[in-house]
Amino acid sequence: MDTLLTSALVGGIAGGLAVLLLAFLIPRKTCPKCKTLLPRFRKPSNTREAMLGGWKCPSCSAKIARDGSLLSNDTL
Ligand SMILES: [Zn+2]
Repeated sequence: MDTLLTSALVGGIAGGLAVLLLAFLIPRKTCPKCKTLLPRFRKPSNTREAMLGGWKCPSCSAKIARDGSLLSNDTL
């Protein structure tokens, strides 16, 4: 019982670390307009962003698609 608990604990920690490591290995995107580094974890500012993904540049307010390309305002 003790061994099972320990292995479950170790597995949980290892899994958590793997997820954390993966998050840090993913390259961060920069704003295609002003080259500002975008936040690693995007915080959707509206439902559209939450559904389709993408960022809003914190410095120039440009809308950026999930693949890092610039979205023009009139397509929204
Ligand atoms: Zn920008």
